Amino acid sequence: MVSITDIIRPEISSLAAYHVPDAAGLLKLDAMENPYLLPAEMQQALAQHLAQVALNRYPVPSYSGLKQLIADKLGVPADREIVLGNGSDELIAMISVACARPGAKVLAPVPGFVMYAMSAKFAGLEFIGVPLQADLTLDTAAMLAAIRTHRPAITYLAYPNNPTGTLYDADDIVAIAHAVGDSGVVVVDEAYQPFAPTSFMPRLAEFDNLVVMRTVSKLGLAGIRLGYMAGNNALMHEFEKVRPPYNINVLTQAAAEFVLQRVEVLDAQAAELRAQRSQLAMALSALPGVQVFPSAANFLLIRVANAEQVFAKLLDHKILVKNVGKMHSLLENCLRITVSTPEENALFMAALAASLTSK
Ligand SMILES: *Cc1c(COP(=O)(O)O)cnc(C)c1O
Repeated sequence: MVSITDIIRPEISSLAAYHVPDAAGLLKLDAMENPYLLPAEMQQALAQHLAQVALNRYPVPSYSGLKQLIADKLGVPADREIVLGNGSDELIAMISVACARPGAKVLAPVPGFVMYAMSAKFAGLEFIGVPLQADLTLDTAAMLAAIRTHRPAITYLAYPNNPTGTLYDADDIVAIAHAVGDSGVVVVDEAYQPFAPTSFMPRLAEFDNLVVMRTVSKLGLAGIRLGYMAGNNALMHEFEKVRPPYNINVLTQAAAEFVLQRVEVLDAQAAELRAQRSQLAMALSALPGVQVFPSAANFLLIRVANAEQVFAKLLDHKILVKNVGKMHSLLENCLRITVSTPEENALFMAALAASLTSK
């Protein structure tokens, strides 16, 4: 029998595999997906476009056409190199691998996006989590102190943050970028940029050490797996070296190019979801015993008296949300709910109201 302990690194064998719950038959409000499909005529045109893709050929690894469209349609400054990832999860992995010098550290607020810590572990980096404040805003003083102590090679700031929805103060991010200085990279993760009022992408020129990372997942293309980042061109040049050469497959490339040429369709869906977020937040706040945290993303974090019980009762109603109560002590009794269509939000609200009152 193979000896796992002789072969596999202990920090890997002690991990539980990333768990994605089976959502068959459930109303899926757990993963921040855009609930809207492409319009039917656009689906047809896309099918014809994809039918012509040369599946027998490797992708052309420069991806220059796709990068040009990302720059033009998604607002990356023209003078910036873009690095593409198979989802931004892969970009996080690439940054980790590239920066994994012996003793190098990764710093991020917690609770935050779990892949920062996971990816650090995979690459053999030490992860330092700095707790948010009780109201889930950034503890800037603690971040600055941790930066002085640990001199992190990578500092991640999800803007807005997942799973809290918090949009950190832009001035605090600036202070952090200055504190990190020349000895580290600051990754501002804008996965939820379509739902947020501000972005650091237009401010890249102000900071030498800043990388802005985004994804098309939350915009409505989670299935095609495409992330991108931009920043200091010398840094991008290094990150590009650890990118698997054909990481964006030809179908993803063709689908992304097709949809980006019509990106106003997704922009309109995002606008609708932002409006729905306000509606849902108001409706939730009106329920007794429910605390709603401010969110600049396409989800809402709420606190209830007994999240375990409410989560289970919602499942009885065939509704899947994310129970984040066990993720971190600051999230005790918290649930994370994806903002969806008016119809699905109404189904959720009715089920939640019933779940809060029933024994
Ligand atoms: C969803 C999410 C991502 C990952 O996006 P993919 O491109 O789908 O891999 C990255 N960062 C944050 C904060 C997220 O919530």
